[in-house]
Amino acid sequence: MLIEIKNLQKGYKVGTKERLVLKNLNLEIEESSINVILGPSGSGKSTLLNIIGGVDRADSGTVTVNGTDICIFSDAKLTEYRRNTVGFVFQFYNLVPNLTVKENIEVVANISKNPIDCDEVLKAVDMLAFKKSFPHEISGGEQQRVSIARAIVKNPTLLLCDEPTGALDFETSKTVLKLLQEVNQKFKTTIIMITHNEAISAMANRVFKLRSGEIIDSYVNRETLPAERIEW
Ligand code: ADP
Repeated sequence: MLIEIKNLQKGYKVGTKERLVLKNLNLEIEESSINVILGPSGSGKSTLLNIIGGVDRADSGTVTVNGTDICIFSDAKLTEYRRNTVGFVFQFYNLVPNLTVKENIEVVANISKNPIDCDEVLKAVDMLAFKKSFPHEISGGEQQRVSIARAIVKNPTLLLCDEPTGALDFETSKTVLKLLQEVNQKFKTTIIMITHNEAISAMANRVFKLRSGEIIDSYVNRETLPAERIEW
């Protein structure tokens, strides 16, 4: 098992009251699998993903990745974990506007331990022809493909995607989802994707349903659907 989460709890103080956002949550993620976390807005999906990615901390519980509990990491160790193990893809791409497509990827490759060749990654996301373009010169779908290239150039064990198609139209979304499936197959990257779009769950090996900070259902898809056949 790549990730084992046990009794994870996280709350935020609102005024004088503590509001629990993740309630005693347990889940397991298998190596090289595609996982979808489904849930309505406010159910705790981003909080969970951010804790797994080491950008937020739990109040209690354990998050064991590759046999090590990241919850007890120092800040420096957590930074190293984020840098070497985790790639992030966000809804709104977050590319650096004054750097070219290739430069956006190089800045990550330059600080990575075992980066993949930048041109190879750009080729994998079918953006090599745009390597000298600036983000404002390419479409939203193309920017998302570049942001996926930026996330995978460090050859991460884990690719965490927070609503990666949330800002894209249906056809472009399918292209991006297909790319995520290809990344999973080619680099054996374990993917955790959060979405509120139920149709996307058909491409996942495992689906977790989150409501009000609790996993209310989880199941395995014996057969996963190629992204290009997803309909919604
Ligand atoms: P989702 O990703 O499912 O939309 P989130 O994990 O973003 O849910 O948020 C879960 C709940 O936690 C929401 O009610 C949100 O308002 C609350 N929350 C998230 N971050 C903070 C914060 N920094 N301070 C207070 N409340 C927060």
